[in-house]
Amino acid sequence: MEKTFVMLKSDGLKRGLLGEVLSRIEKKGYKVLALKIQNLTKDQLDKHYYEHLERPYFPSLVEYLTSGPVVHMVIGGDNVISGIRKLNGATDPEKAEMGSVRGDLAINMTKNLIHASDSLENAEREINLYFSDDEIVQY
Ligand code: ADP
Ligand code: MG
Repeated sequence: MEKTFVMLKSDGLKRGLLGEVLSRIEKKGYKVLALKIQNLTKDQLDKHYYEHLERPYFPSLVEYLTSGPVVHMVIGGDNVISGIRKLNGATDPEKAEMGSVRGDLAINMTKNLIHASDSLENAEREINLYFSDDEIVQY
């Protein structure tokens, strides 16, 4: 089964949107294979977003993502990597389609509520940043 890494960013729990987001993922038929709530460190974010380290928005991204706990998930299903990206919608919530998580629920380009891996390589890399093999179930 294809797997992807999804993160409910730090405003998600505060705004009470974990259930809503999980519900959309489950209703689409994807499987929740691992789930973890934690506070992120700057070091974890440097690794996770290494391609964005030099971008002007990186400091505000770190401030946002360390402002409260996030929820990490491993999600499985057919073509789940592209499927969750579609379910999430465009990076900028103003451009994201209505009906997508970001289009319906996200605040702005920084506080865009949810992350999902964009390739098989990044899915494996990001899953391994946050989960060990024995924390991921199969069913
Ligand atoms: P995505 O999360 O859709 O894969 P990117 O990988 O391009 O988007 O960017 C990673 C994250 O960095 C985005 O989700 C967003 O939180 C933040 N970000 C990207 N571009 C900008 C920007 N121009 N201004 C503010 N934040 C940004
Ligand atoms: Mg990305």
